[in-house]
Amino acid sequence: MEQLEKNLTTIHIGNTPVRKCSTLSALFNTNIFIKEEFHNPGMSAKDRPALYMVQDAIANNKIQPGGTFVEASSGNTGLGITLIAKSLGYRSKIFVSKSCSDEKIDALQSAGAEIEICENSNGLHDFNSTQFRAQSYAATNDNAYFTNQYYNTQNIRAHYKSTGPELWEQTQGKITHFIAGIGTGGTISGVGRFLKAQNKHIKIWGVEPRGSVLRHFLKSGSMPDCLQPFEPIEGIGRNFIPGSLDVEVIDDIFQVESDDAKQAARRYAAETGILIGFSSAAIVACLSKYMEAMRIGRHDHVVLFFPDHGSRYISKLYAAEGQAIHYPQHIL
Ligand code: PMP
Repeated sequence: MEQLEKNLTTIHIGNTPVRKCSTLSALFNTNIFIKEEFHNPGMSAKDRPALYMVQDAIANNKIQPGGTFVEASSGNTGLGITLIAKSLGYRSKIFVSKSCSDEKIDALQSAGAEIEICENSNGLHDFNSTQFRAQSYAATNDNAYFTNQYYNTQNIRAHYKSTGPELWEQTQGKITHFIAGIGTGGTISGVGRFLKAQNKHIKIWGVEPRGSVLRHFLKSGSMPDCLQPFEPIEGIGRNFIPGSLDVEVIDDIFQVESDDAKQAARRYAAETGILIGFSSAAIVACLSKYMEAMRIGRHDHVVLFFPDHGSRYISKLYAAEGQAIHYPQHIL
């Protein structure tokens, strides 16, 4: 364990800044703060669960020295696992779906991950999914461990132990609303659980693409009768219920169109010069649409969770096939 900690001293995960965003605060007439997770070494929030899952596996002998960490990922968790595993002398094998951005695949490859591209990420019961393939790879190869972020308790724990307390301290307990996209559910569940324990009045709002099943599950406790295909927003939205989702701490989940998120990203870049990630843009688009339903007042302290950076999505979001970009006014 001591050696493990020594080898990790060069990787600084967490303690990312929270900054007030003057553009969005003026636009929405309230106090909007952004938790900037792209300051992590893998440039995303997913370094946090990656660290907890790797440490837990090593400490509890789920993997032996030199083994292979296996994960199904939209890219960010995979990169976090790869850089942490590498620093400790382990290998990584990452299963990504074909909707993963080119930039993320390039980053994974550059960091030394072995990658396999799968048809979808529809969960453990679909033969062509990243999760199924990751699980079967780990089951059929010696000394390979599937971290399984969708069902690993360390995912929520990482955010409960690090992100939640950071936010409480950084806002000096003034936070009134926390808004985050939902993929595995680890972020919103861990942060939500921590913040509600400090002050049960803090609103915890989730964001997902239209057609994803999590809102339906939150409202009814069941899956919808029929699944709809939906336009993906990388990192968020599911057609199964992840084990890492704790709906008890979520006040509501709002849905946005993928196109509205794209427009929000471009508008934000045009106005500020800052490139935000796809799921971060979904939060901004969601605010434009549901400000009233989110019950945000002028004196509130609203924290938006931006898990990664727009540089991961240049080809998908910002380089617009040589077409002019139009900004409908309702987006920002
Ligand atoms: N946005 C991005 C870009 C992500 O990679 C993820 C992780 N899948 C999320 C949002 C959602 O985070 P979580 O898995 O903690 O729900």
